[in-house]
Amino acid sequence: MYKPAILCLCSLIAFTSCQTTANHRRTGQTPPPDWQAGEDTPPPLIPGAPDIPLPPTDLPSPVVPADSKDSPSTAPVRLGNSAAQIWVSTKRWALDNGLREPRAVPFAGGSAYALTTAHGEFTFQPGSLTSYWDGLELRLGYAPQLSSGEIFLHVLDARKTLEILARGLAVAASPRRVIVIDPGHGGKNTGARSVLDGRQEKEFTLDWALRLAPLLEQRGWHVLLTRTNDVDISLPDRVTFANEQHADLFLSLHFNFPGSGNREPAGLETYVLTPTGMPSSITRGYPDDAREIFPNNAHDADNLRYAVRLHRAMLQVNGNNDRGVRHARFLGVLRGQNCPAVLIEGGYLSSSKEAQLIALPVYRQRLAEAVANALQ
Ligand SMILES: [Zn+2]
Repeated sequence: MYKPAILCLCSLIAFTSCQTTANHRRTGQTPPPDWQAGEDTPPPLIPGAPDIPLPPTDLPSPVVPADSKDSPSTAPVRLGNSAAQIWVSTKRWALDNGLREPRAVPFAGGSAYALTTAHGEFTFQPGSLTSYWDGLELRLGYAPQLSSGEIFLHVLDARKTLEILARGLAVAASPRRVIVIDPGHGGKNTGARSVLDGRQEKEFTLDWALRLAPLLEQRGWHVLLTRTNDVDISLPDRVTFANEQHADLFLSLHFNFPGSGNREPAGLETYVLTPTGMPSSITRGYPDDAREIFPNNAHDADNLRYAVRLHRAMLQVNGNNDRGVRHARFLGVLRGQNCPAVLIEGGYLSSSKEAQLIALPVYRQRLAEAVANALQ
């Protein structure tokens, strides 16, 4: 059964067998003129995707214990042996961290809770995977739960979202400051097509990257690109390149397209690898084994910090049309990275309004400036 999702994301995992000589080089040149190339039809959806149901895992849906409010301190409430069954009282978490307990706030006709920290405010809703950090949308792994009038957060959401952001968005920078920018797609891997005129995602991502590179160099980054022209580079090659270069940050650039249906989504999405133990925000029909540990999971904290910084900056470019910072486990360019890694979607090519923006060089320049400013 097809799940509405993102063509661009699925095409990311569709070309692992394509082996094209990588054209890596340090950049600083001006963006090329617009060009169009490639095939007349976009790549098929999820070629080779396994048509099998998700495998069972050891991570059942969590349940809040009735007596959880009586547990001592912020010690997680444990139900059995699975991490998926552990919940944290946000009231006790706040008090233990010298903060005021979460307060109920009106939210979209329902109820939500706001927890103010020194670095920002976390807003979350019982029964909803959508939370907010200073108004920026973040997807949780598990929906917060109310029990006896107290609001509980899953322990993984507490550790992998709240506690990380509560410490601030600063990331320890290496003196080398190497960033690998990955313009999504290339060559026969065209990516999505604009609803306006069929122009291809691969063109826009490369232009975005070439605009971004000199801006980052001006800010002290040593910049490398996975491609600087219209070539198809496999996902493993992109990961290998970043690892060989000992990158401090890997940033993959994309534009979006819905998978199917009549929806016409618009807005910005930012992806990081799903922390181990947590279900993904999107699976694209692929298995999503929460038990898996990938090299990039060592960077869960900085993944999120970079993602929030990037997402927040880009929202200022598109009028705050926010589709959230999300978790995905199937994205091949993120999983194997030995450094923080983020994939950003700069708008929907399926939305006539956003496709018009994406077609404008000034919009892509503003996206590039937003990303550069977020990485200062
Ligand atoms: Zn894409």
